[in-house]
Amino acid sequence: MTVSWENEPYFMGAFKANLPGHYRYQRRLYTHFMQDRLPEDKRGIFLAGDDISWTAGWAEGAVQTALNAVWGVMHQFGGSTDGTNPGPGDVFDEIAPVELPED
Ligand SMILES: Cc1cc2nc3c(=O)[nH]c(=O)nc-3n(C[C@H](O)[C@H](O)[C@H](O)COP(=O)(O)OP(=O)(O)OC[C@H]3O[C@@H](n4cnc5c(N)ncnc54)[C@H](O)[C@@H]3O)c2cc1C
Repeated sequence: MTVSWENEPYFMGAFKANLPGHYRYQRRLYTHFMQDRLPEDKRGIFLAGDDISWTAGWAEGAVQTALNAVWGVMHQFGGSTDGTNPGPGDVFDEIAPVELPED
């Protein structure tokens, strides 16, 4: 079965989640690879690519999300990075996008 986001309600076209007011949605998508904070039954799906990029429309952002997803999968299976070469999740609290209040 093929599900295309383009046919889903609220599809926003290119640069989705990059418009004014979208910051919280974009942050949630971009940081979803940090799944320790999710309920257990919500873990295990990792997205990557332009659709969740912090800088949609630029290849660099798509690659960043791929690296994040790889770290997330590795972490889920109990793996870890070399201490001299930390991955995005290892330094998440230092470099994560600012979290805005939810209300
Ligand atoms: C005209 C144009 C110019 C650009 N110029 C630049 C630039 O100068 N610099 C820059 O950094 N970025 C540029 N970009 C953006 C860059 O191309 C994207 O950010 C990048 O390609 C996103 O990579 P991705 O892997 O997330 O998605 P994509 O490259 O879109 O890859 C998604 C892949 O999934 C495949 N796919 C889709 N549905 C299915 C399915 N159901 N089953 C199997 N496969 C499927 C598609 O065929 C596609 O190969 C440009 C984009 C466009 C359109």
